[in-house]
Amino acid sequence: MQVVVLKESSADEFRVALVPESAKKLVTAENKVFVETGAGDLAGATDSDYKQAGAEISDSPEELLPNTDVLLAINRPPDASLSKLKKGAIVVALLRPLDEPEKLRPFIENNLTAFSLEMIPRATRAQAMDVLSSMATIAGYKAVLLATEKLPRMLPMMTTAAGTIPPAKVLIVGAGVAGLQAIATARRLGAVVEGFDIRAAAGEAVRSLGAKFLELENVNAEGEGGYAKEVGEDVMENARELLTKAAANADCIITTAQIPGRRAPVLITREAVEAMKSGSVIVDLAGANGGNCELAKPNEIVNHNGVFIYAPTNLAATIPVHASQLFSRNVTAFCNLLAKDGELSLDFSDDILSGSYIVHQGEIRNERVKEIFKERV
Ligand code: NAD
Repeated sequence: MQVVVLKESSADEFRVALVPESAKKLVTAENKVFVETGAGDLAGATDSDYKQAGAEISDSPEELLPNTDVLLAINRPPDASLSKLKKGAIVVALLRPLDEPEKLRPFIENNLTAFSLEMIPRATRAQAMDVLSSMATIAGYKAVLLATEKLPRMLPMMTTAAGTIPPAKVLIVGAGVAGLQAIATARRLGAVVEGFDIRAAAGEAVRSLGAKFLELENVNAEGEGGYAKEVGEDVMENARELLTKAAANADCIITTAQIPGRRAPVLITREAVEAMKSGSVIVDLAGANGGNCELAKPNEIVNHNGVFIYAPTNLAATIPVHASQLFSRNVTAFCNLLAKDGELSLDFSDDILSGSYIVHQGEIRNERVKEIFKERV
């Protein structure tokens, strides 16, 4: 199996899909690995590291692409690269099929087989391939560091000769993978933390990290696979009211609430922002899907009456070494399902493969994606 890794095309993408450690594993499993010159430079992996791992380095993606069996990428590769792949070539990446179904067109038109890492079922057997959790872990951690750096106060309580400084109050909205990591990070830095989630089951995890769980009585929006499902407007109103009260006491809010394939729920309203002290900071991790804060703008800094609102859409990329390492391990575990003894062999009875393949033989194969594609395209 010929596995190819190109330099990511977006200017703010510092990660690489495969690090040398994983390239070595794929080579040992009888695959050939080709890496574009400089692909890992920003993630701490040099061309010479890849060579030592047994990969070949090429400065000509044009030559690599027509012979590629599997193209590994972090983000959806540019259309120009997709059109150079041979018919039936496999692309494995974060393709955002539920959020940007129209961008699947080149996969259909070029007869490619597309596996979307977001769609890997969250079964125990698939944990080693769970790119979403890996990236959410990093984003949750980095969100707290970003907020800490922007806050005009410290997080821990300090008892000094000049008197005592109280700890900062941090509110985390959405207690999935990113939210729990944000809670753990804020707690390690000494903040007093409150967490909110629409899934009642999240309460135990929040409390186990030493934070207080804010709960809506008689609401449990646990849906399929542990994800949240959409709730009615009355429940959302109650959630916003609860969070507006909590916001008034918070120095910092980090929001992570998402519902796969839907616009992110708006939970921090203008009123909640206006209830916060000047100098407070909000980091909205749902910016790519519309944001949890009414006033957030993706990749912009909004200053609303002295409250600073950040909505970085690709925070995991700002820790490229570890983000690439985790992504690479996940994607390598996934590659092991694509081949037997170094030969490409797709077994669609495997629920991980059947759950994550989106386009095959010129058609969308995932029912949910097909529906969204029909609705929007
Ligand atoms: P996500 O990114 O889709 O959402 C983040 C959080 O937002 C979730 O906890 C969700 O409940 C919450 N949310 C959604 N709407 C909300 C609202 N209106 N108000 C407040 N919170 C809201 O989710 P995720 O972080 O990817 O994880 C979702 C679940 O999947 C969690 O239970 C997690 O433990 C579970 N999970 C399981 C596995 C596995 O392999 N079994 C792996 C990773 C995650």
